Amino acid sequence: MKSLDQIAAELQGYDPQAITVHGVLDFLSRMVMPVRDVIELPLFDALGRVLAYDVISPVDVPPHDNSAMDGYAFAAGQLVDNALLELQVIGTALAGKAWQGGVGPGQCVKIMTGAVMPPGLDTVAPQEFVKVAETGGVHRVTIPPGVVRAGDNRRARGEDLMKGQPALRKGELITPARLGLAASLGLEKLTTLRPLRVAYFSTGDEILSPGEAPREGAVYDSNRYTVFGLLSRLGCEIIDLGVVRDDPALLEAAFLTAAMQADAIITSGGVSVGEADYTRALMKKLGDVAFWRIAMRPGRPMAVGRLQRAGSLQAGFAARPPQGETAPLGGSEPHEVGSVGAGCAAGPPQGETAPLGGSEPHEVGSVGAILFGLPGNPVAVMVTFLAFVRPALLQMMGANPELMPLLKARSSEAIRKKPGRTEYQRGRVSTASDGSLQVKTTGSQGSGVLRSMAEANGLIVLHHAQGNVAVGDEVDVMMFDGVI
Ligand code: AMP
Ligand code: MG
Repeated sequence: MKSLDQIAAELQGYDPQAITVHGVLDFLSRMVMPVRDVIELPLFDALGRVLAYDVISPVDVPPHDNSAMDGYAFAAGQLVDNALLELQVIGTALAGKAWQGGVGPGQCVKIMTGAVMPPGLDTVAPQEFVKVAETGGVHRVTIPPGVVRAGDNRRARGEDLMKGQPALRKGELITPARLGLAASLGLEKLTTLRPLRVAYFSTGDEILSPGEAPREGAVYDSNRYTVFGLLSRLGCEIIDLGVVRDDPALLEAAFLTAAMQADAIITSGGVSVGEADYTRALMKKLGDVAFWRIAMRPGRPMAVGRLQRAGSLQAGFAARPPQGETAPLGGSEPHEVGSVGAGCAAGPPQGETAPLGGSEPHEVGSVGAILFGLPGNPVAVMVTFLAFVRPALLQMMGANPELMPLLKARSSEAIRKKPGRTEYQRGRVSTASDGSLQVKTTGSQGSGVLRSMAEANGLIVLHHAQGNVAVGDEVDVMMFDGVI
């Protein structure tokens, strides 16, 4: 595992005092590693998890040739250009109830969507295109010329997916569509990587928890709630360590507890150079931590690093995984991240399988918890989370890297922007009368104005080299949809 200094040495022009957004992403991608422990989960529990292996289809999808329409199945060899085709209806094929008999020349079978195609028939004439007449209990259909061609309205066996083909790929996040696809293969369980455990606390003497009486100079904690929401949407297990005063002993205890239980630790506040901020000093003492001034707005100060897990060996900390946790089996497996310290006894929950590998030695405390020390301002917390923490956590979750696509929208207002830093303005994207996308900012853009986030549906990303934006200019927008 590389130290932060080693990573810094790999990066050209690394300057912690003026690191760019790209520099931060590059650094973090070299610093974090994916979890390796896997769990087998029933489908309903697998939503939002990351696939540990490719899923190979055990069946053909669809499993048999079937009709894509309600209509009449027949053999297309009987079609003649520019001529009506008249056929006798000899039976009905329903979805789940196939037509059992044979079908001869001049005959057809009434068929419903999803019903198995009777043997020898290859085409379906949709019912709305044909005329049906009955004489003496015998039904006949007339198919006008030109309304159907050979093979129309038939879904061929295996046309979606052939048995043995990969249906889903390792590293894919299990979305509703992928969950449904797994179910369509008849799978009952999926093998996923275990979820991340992320510990979070707010810092500051002035921070009140909801329910506490207001007092002079104090503000209610919002970061704990926004971070909770952002982590929940990522499917992380959250260890909430509350609000911690600017007191070295309390902060140290909180960091040690967090480092012992979690794969990642997120804090807010105390990373700027403030008088009463002991947070920086403690981070330095407890781990390998870099302090950055990022060329961005909001969210300039940020600390990242690794905190030692040595505290887990000390008495006095209950190294108990949170509820629903997938504890490693025994104490000798390798763990890239997230190994819980020795002495932590927890039975594996149902559905868990053994971790990958199994014979490499594992040094307790050798792998640290990743620390993200975010700034205190509520908007800065959310923006740095979206810009940096989220991609890093996804990488730790084992998810394939996927950059969030940026949309183009026309700015309905002029925006002042200095080249030399990336700015994230909170915006409201809507559809203009000509159908194109337009965006306007949500009023005051101060980094403490959480309302600007609450009213936004995306971030206007003004890139590092970009200057002022004029009315009507196209800007990039990172939409929140599905993320926050
Ligand atoms: P700091 O980074 O600790 O200097 O904090 C910067 C600003 O963010 C200060 O105005 C703090 O009061 C505010 N702040 C810090 N933490 C929180 C929090 N958890 N909820 C709301 N505001 C906060
Ligand atoms: Mg503070």
